[in-house]
Amino acid sequence: MQKTRFSRLSPRHYSKLSLLAIALVLFPPLALAHSTVEIEAMHSKADHSLPPIKEALKFSYSKESEKEFDQAVARGKAAIDKALAEAKTSKKEKALCIVSDIDETILDNRPFIEKEVAKDVKEVNWDGFAAWVDEAAGKPLKPSIELLAYARKKGLAVFLISGRVEKLRRATITNLVKYGIAYDGLYLRGNEDKSSAIPMKSAYRKKIEDMGYEIVVNIGDQYSDLKGGYSIDCEKLPNKMYYIQ
Ligand SMILES: [Mg+2]
Repeated sequence: MQKTRFSRLSPRHYSKLSLLAIALVLFPPLALAHSTVEIEAMHSKADHSLPPIKEALKFSYSKESEKEFDQAVARGKAAIDKALAEAKTSKKEKALCIVSDIDETILDNRPFIEKEVAKDVKEVNWDGFAAWVDEAAGKPLKPSIELLAYARKKGLAVFLISGRVEKLRRATITNLVKYGIAYDGLYLRGNEDKSSAIPMKSAYRKKIEDMGYEIVVNIGDQYSDLKGGYSIDCEKLPNKMYYIQ
């Protein structure tokens, strides 16, 4: 009787396969990076209704939220490593870079949200939010800040694109410098610009690519940070406290 391929496996092979199976159970592979097309699909399927802000704040401190955040950062790091490995053999002339949002992505505004919750508000008061941003008192979100630092150490440029308006530029820089967040470009919304974040942010990403960069990762807490193309990998961070169109 003809032996099957499987029956020809030696005990040594079986032990190697067992070790691989154990490794996969202990360290499951990360979900693949999200392309801009996948982000569009995820956005159309997602439930955009927000829970009461008090519950959303509570969720932001949960293990579930922390895990979602860490997984997105890990996928971003894997995308950087992959792009760097590919760049070694590729003849492409483009420089690599990462794009990041600011609020609830690298700076944490929960001290403001907590004060709002204490006042029993139903949703975020954006005038109050701007006044808080002007205090340059946002707290650092370490995993994503470390991702930007990792990218920069590996030779990628770091660009920040935020819905914060230009008149908050000085406070924004002060807050970023306070936590040693290094970047190569900071793009903000025009003071009078009331348009959706999607065209505003994707136009800046196009501008970055037109300067000769390839955007490897685009990371943000809103789908509007990620939709509209111009990035190999898009990473959505959790945020149920507010939704930006
Ligand atoms: Mg944000």
